[in-house]
Amino acid sequence: MRKALLLLLALCCAAGFYAFSPREKETARAAEAVRVGQVRVLQTEQAASPVLLRVYDEGRLERVDLEEYLLHAVAGEMPASYEMEALKAQAVAARSYIAWKMPAYGGGGCSRGVDADVCTDSTHCLAYWSEEEMRAHWGADYDACRARVEEAVRATRGEVLLYEGSPVQALFHASSGGYTEDAQAVWGTAFPYLTSVESADGAEAEARFSLAELAEKLNAAFPGAKLTEKNVKENFLVRSRTDSGRADVVRVGEVTATGKAVRAALDLKSTDFAVDYEGDEVVLRTRGSGHGVGMSQVGAEAMAAQGSGYREILAHYYTGVDFGSLPEV
Ligand SMILES: [Zn+2]
Repeated sequence: MRKALLLLLALCCAAGFYAFSPREKETARAAEAVRVGQVRVLQTEQAASPVLLRVYDEGRLERVDLEEYLLHAVAGEMPASYEMEALKAQAVAARSYIAWKMPAYGGGGCSRGVDADVCTDSTHCLAYWSEEEMRAHWGADYDACRARVEEAVRATRGEVLLYEGSPVQALFHASSGGYTEDAQAVWGTAFPYLTSVESADGAEAEARFSLAELAEKLNAAFPGAKLTEKNVKENFLVRSRTDSGRADVVRVGEVTATGKAVRAALDLKSTDFAVDYEGDEVVLRTRGSGHGVGMSQVGAEAMAAQGSGYREILAHYYTGVDFGSLPEV
């Protein structure tokens, strides 16, 4: 890890990124930072040559230019119909997340493929729409949709979010339900830039089950719960919630489960759920969609629609980050 950090510092230096001892760094930031609206932008040099990414795709390892990769990733991660500033925010978030993963910048890479930076499995790294998938998804709108995503990637070329000089793990999710979630509440590890913030979105959904179905699903996921159609109502209860209101500790019959595990067992949209009983049915009402950490895509779209620029959106969702360029590798 220390070696990786030293390598990163050496790379930053070689690329003229900015000074690298902590005190020098602060001075350099003060001298070089400019303000664009509410956010600080570090004056950095654009990478002169393309950053090549090792992409693991269906068992093969391919070298793809990072900017070309991002066209396929942003296409798969956010609807192309979203506001341009939301698409740009998505491009910068995805670029930062990938840079955070790259061993060349001190990251751990993708564990699926040997020596891969990233894979094309959306449940593991990021979504990736191939040329054929873009054509299939966009149909008659292919040209217009592709042009929009290309513009978002091109307009932010090389730009990443940095925290103390390193690319950040810029996680994102579909929608937050009012407040984003603190990374610590989901994974037990704190990241200073992944804290809970207010988010102007609250997509609501509901899932309905009969009491028998609910007991059956919970028993299957949590051995020892011993729930029945008759006792489930009194024995399936949210015991505590995280600061952002998501279910944290849940009583599931005779066992205790996390909100995250209950979400997975019942295939709920998020851990921000409330349990109501209506006759012989249980209604689970959820707010938001996804793990809730980092940028909410629906929230980004709402901010963009109200006139926020992509940097304002990103600075809102990723607390305390700076904007800079990727150093050359
Ligand atoms: Zn992966």
